[in-house]
Amino acid sequence: MAKSKQKGIEEPIPKDLFDILACPLCKADLEYAKGKKGLVCSGCGEKYPIKEGIPVLLPPKTK
Ligand SMILES: [Zn+2]
Repeated sequence: MAKSKQKGIEEPIPKDLFDILACPLCKADLEYAKGKKGLVCSGCGEKYPIKEGIPVLLPPKTK
């Protein structure tokens, strides 16, 4: 079995912090998005980026 480059993926956010995170829009729990490059709300499905280990939980800009 060939190993992919994804073997080094770890939790980008400390678990203590991750546990208290909630969606600012609907207060539902957040989950890691695919590849753990971001977070996705389990409630409304809104996506939030993770920048330098810090989740950016700003409501999306309305255009
Ligand atoms: Zn939500």
